[in-house]
This record gives sequence, structure tokens and C-alpha cells, in this order.
Amino acid sequence: MGNVNLVDGSKSGQEVISEIKDVKLYIDGAFVDAESNEQFDNINPFTNEKINQVASGDRNDIDKAVKAARKAFKGEWGSLPLKERLSYVYKIADLIDEHIEEIAPLESFDTGLPISQTKKMVARAAQNFRFYAEMVSSRLVGDAYQVDDQFLNYTIHKPVGIAGLITPWNAPFMLETWKIAPALATGNTVVLKPAEWSPLTANRLAEIIDKAGLPDGVFNVVHGYGETAGASLVANEDVELISFTGETTTGSEIMKNGADSLKQFSMELGGKSPIIVFEDADMERAIDACTWGIFSFNGERCTANSRLYVHENVAEDFVAALKERVQNIVVGDPMKEETQVGPLIHTKHYENVKKYLDIAEQEGCQVVSGTVPEEFSRGNFIAPTLLLNAENSMQVIQEEIFGPVIAVMTFKDEEEVIEKANDVRYGLAGYVWTKDLQRGHRVAQAVDSGMLWINAQNVRDLRTPFGGSKHSGIGREGGHYAFEFYTEVQIIHVALGEHHIPQFGKK
Ligand code: NAD
Repeated sequence: MGNVNLVDGSKSGQEVISEIKDVKLYIDGAFVDAESNEQFDNINPFTNEKINQVASGDRNDIDKAVKAARKAFKGEWGSLPLKERLSYVYKIADLIDEHIEEIAPLESFDTGLPISQTKKMVARAAQNFRFYAEMVSSRLVGDAYQVDDQFLNYTIHKPVGIAGLITPWNAPFMLETWKIAPALATGNTVVLKPAEWSPLTANRLAEIIDKAGLPDGVFNVVHGYGETAGASLVANEDVELISFTGETTTGSEIMKNGADSLKQFSMELGGKSPIIVFEDADMERAIDACTWGIFSFNGERCTANSRLYVHENVAEDFVAALKERVQNIVVGDPMKEETQVGPLIHTKHYENVKKYLDIAEQEGCQVVSGTVPEEFSRGNFIAPTLLLNAENSMQVIQEEIFGPVIAVMTFKDEEEVIEKANDVRYGLAGYVWTKDLQRGHRVAQAVDSGMLWINAQNVRDLRTPFGGSKHSGIGREGGHYAFEFYTEVQIIHVALGEHHIPQFGKK
């Protein structure tokens, strides 16, 4: 086992942060430096001060982690009885629950996500492990077919092997566990490549998994840049599958690089999701949902409703209410419970979002922003922002901004709004607000998106599929969709009697 420094569940957020050490790789049950000894800086988005340094893994470290994962898969982990394997998965869930008060502050400190939101995400992460442990125990034997009284055919689901998991920075802990939980519960071993801007909680998870007592090599973390560590994981011949969440262009690059080794891919990519508000909608609730849907997680949310289409008859009132909301949203220190919007993850991302605000102005939008208190000028703050007078043809409508910015457009009728909603290359999520039941379903079904909510904010049930159509993804996570991705189905044909077998060459 590695040099575990997991604190007990009783420490405060500040204490946990004061104990942050440099981030190492976690390979074969040990926390180690990168073979090259290279490191990169990890920066706090609220102050832009350096937090610590992170071991920068490359191909050699990935190869080492994959070897350890292969050994564990062929050895102890692969031969564990199901019940024992799942008991480890439950144990991870319990340990995460016990340490929410430590993991959430680390996540907020590292990413700028408000603490009230990271606490919920960490609780969800524990639930991911519990959910898959339960699901797997009831699903390993699949279908059975009796054929002509002659054969019994049945399917079983076996682990695929080594799962390469590549994750983004926008909800790191939750999104990592979303992949790790089904991968481990179904019996695979894992090499995780977390995003370089949010490395802290991945190592907390490694400590938890270590403490849960999983055999060495079952779970490995290799930090590093996408073009080095990430690309080496994708190219490694011994890695059977890649589950990726991140930008659409990165997903496409990964699929090209993994093609030679015929990997299976799950792709959760970018979004530019519409919220459609009809004139009969419950306005107060629609405004709540619209505001939460774009400004929660600092707007760095793949399913954010970044395009608002509001019926022209109610647009004036709706926009007036939104203007008031953006002025009143509490922007500030992500470590404070009352904060609703914190700083963006990194100066590079901040510059990118700023660039889009300039483009919006050049394209003719009226940019209406809330305020960022002067005392927070060191952080990567973008005030909650509305882009008024937007049009579908604009760059700010066609491209993902991934910040607290919503573009506002109006429509006259159903046909027009469906056409506009579908006129982007993305198809991740959508939201429809109307009291007309038939119209709600009709419009929902006509919108090109992997997920759609009617009169609801983005609530999810782990049993249901998560993912996007068009350039927003390939495949689905969640429920039995993830179960199937992380398992190989095998059909077994059993003869029940003496069926005919051609007798070639028999005299
Ligand atoms: P990103 O694509 O820049 O990076 C994601 C991960 O890929 C990182 O770990 C990075 O190091 C790695 N990577 C980069 N280049 C690579 C390469 N050539 N080979 C292998 N790995 C490589 O994405 P990001 O900026 O971290 O995340 C934001 C994006 O993620 C947004 O587009 C957002 O919409 C998307 N996202 C999608 C979902 C979803 O479920 N659809 C959920 C969350 C975020």
C-alpha cells in the first residue's frame, strides 16, 4: 500500500487545505513521482497563487500504470468472488461519505466551484459507487434463450480489462467517480488521467481506495498533460477501452489516436443546450430553473442552458427578471457557503470566456452583466452575464462558451423554435417550459438532444442514460448503459441433446 495520509473525517476544510502536499502519481498501490521527475504548478483560481506542484506523468508512467493494472486484472482482482469485489466498492462509497467535509473544500479550493455545490457533488460520487455495486450484483447473468428444445443459449457479462479514463476539470471528483464506479464494480482495473487543472481530489480518491484495501494496481492515477499522459493512455495497446469526458475536438483527436488499437470509446463531449420558454409556462419556476441551469457550477457545466429561447409575448418580463437575478447573484469566495458563483478554473479559460464577450459585442449583442466585488479582482471572475439581441447565426450561439453567460433570443411559434434549437452542431441537453402537456412532449421529442427536461431543472436518476447526440457525444453513461460499456457480453451455447453434426470425411 502507498504512503496514505488520509485524515480522519473530523478535520475542517481549512485544516485539510493547510495540509495539502505536492500531488504524486498513484501507481500499483504507491504514491510516486513521475519517472522524469517533471512537475507542473497547480494554481488556486480564487487568488491565482500557486497551491502546490503536481507530478507530470508521461508515456513511461502510463506504461507502468497499465502494467500494474494488467497484473491486477490477471491476478488478485480478476479472481475475486463477486461478493468480495463488490464489498470493496461499497467500502469506497462509505469512506467518501465519511470524508465529504474534507473532499468538498479541496474540490472548491482547486476548482473555484462553490462549496455548497461541491458538497452535493461529493455525496453524489459516493452514490455512484453504491449504485453500481447494487446494479452489478443483479445483472451479471444476462438473457437466456431456449432454442428448439435442442439448445440453451445464455449470455454473461465479463469485465473488458483495463479501462482508461480521461476526465475534465469542471466537476472533477464527481465525473471521475461516474466512470470509476461502474468500471470497478464490473471487474475492470483502471488507469485514470485527471485534468491537469484540478488534480487534488483524484488523489484523495486514491487515498480512499487505498484505505478501502483494494489490491495494488486495481486503481491507478497518472497526472499529466493531455498530449503526453492522455495521448499515451489512448495509444497503449493494452488498454481495452477509453471513457472520455471533455471537449468535442479532444474527443475526435482521441478517437483517431485510439483507432489503431481498436479500442471501445465512450465520448461525453461539449454542449450548447437550449431552454425553451413558452408563454404559458410557470414563469417564476422557469426563471429559477434558467438561472440555476446556467449559473450553477460557475457556468462550467456541460448541460448548462446557455441558449434561452423565450416566447416574444413574455420576453420583456422574463428578461427583466433575469436582469434582476444577475445583479443579485452572490459572486465571491468559493469556500463560503453563501457564494453562488465562484471564479473560473484558470486564467486561460477566463481569457477564453472574455474573448467570447468581446465577440458578442462585435456581433451586435447587448452584454448585460452583474458585478464582481472589487476585493476579488485577483481571481478569474466573470460576472453572470446575459447576451441580449442574440441570433442563431452568431459565433457566440454556435460555440460553447463554458462560463456564466446566457444568450437570449425570442421566438413566435413552435416550428420556429424547434428549428433554432436544432441549428447547432451540439445535442447534449434541452429544457422545455410549458403547461401544455402535448406541446411539451411534442417539442421535447423534436429537439435533437440526448437528454431533455420538461418543466424541470437538470435532475438525474442514476438508472437513466446520460449523454449527447450529434457532436456532444457517442454512447451513454449511467444505468445499464455504463454497465454494458464496461463489460464484454459472451453468449454460451449449450447442447441439451444430441443434435445433428455434419460428418465430414467420415467413412
Ligand atoms: P479537454 O478536452 O480540454 O480535456 C479533458 C481531458 O482530456 C483532460 O484530462 C485533458 O488532459 C485530456 N486531453 C487533452 N488532450 C488530449 C489528448 N490529445 N489525448 C488524450 N487526452 C487529452 O476538456 P476540459 O476543458 O477539461 O473540459 C471542458 C469540456 O468538457 C467542455 O467542452 C464540456 O462541455 C465538456 N464536458 C462534457 C460533459 C458531458 O457529459 N458531455 C461533462 C463535463 C464536461
